[in-house]
Amino acid sequence: MKKTEVLFTKEQIKSKVKELAQIITNDYKDKNLLIVSLLKGSFIFTADLVREIDLDLRIEFMVTSSYMLSEESKGVVKIEHDLNCDIKEYDVLIVDDIIDTGYTMEFVYNHLIKREPKSLKMLTFLDKPSRRVVELNADYTGYKVEDVFIVGYGLNSGHYYRNIDHIFIFV
Ligand code: 5GP
Ligand code: MG
Repeated sequence: MKKTEVLFTKEQIKSKVKELAQIITNDYKDKNLLIVSLLKGSFIFTADLVREIDLDLRIEFMVTSSYMLSEESKGVVKIEHDLNCDIKEYDVLIVDDIIDTGYTMEFVYNHLIKREPKSLKMLTFLDKPSRRVVELNADYTGYKVEDVFIVGYGLNSGHYYRNIDHIFIFV
């Protein structure tokens, strides 16, 4: 396996997940929390996060995929698997592994807001603000990262590296 610089160790990941979970526990204590996790990238992060949130909550999954239309340099997001429940009674929190251009999060936000949830917020473990194309800021962010391609902790290259327990820069 090709491994380069470690960006976040297992311990750093664990402490940031705990920190985020405490904030969510506090902010949603009087709400009806529904976490919508975006697969595949956020499956490991979501599993860790929800186990640290000390609240009754519901978890659902969406599968999204994105690609670039090079001619227009515009991102196209596709929903491979949609939510199949009514979200009107819920305070929905979209959870993703990383926000890069922002296309995915923006698309999912606009898709879910139409279903009139009680509230709708965005949480991302990682954020690359310097890569942003659409104007979008998550309500909750774990770590900010530079413009480097990273893998591990759910993030892939090809079909691999999602199972690595830390995050490293891939070149
Ligand atoms: P977007 O550009 O729509 O904000 O992000 C689309 C998707 O690109 C993310 O959900 C993630 O799956 C992927 N992505 C963005 N940056 C990276 C990265 O540094 N490493 C990996 N493995 N995937 C990334
Ligand atoms: Mg993703």
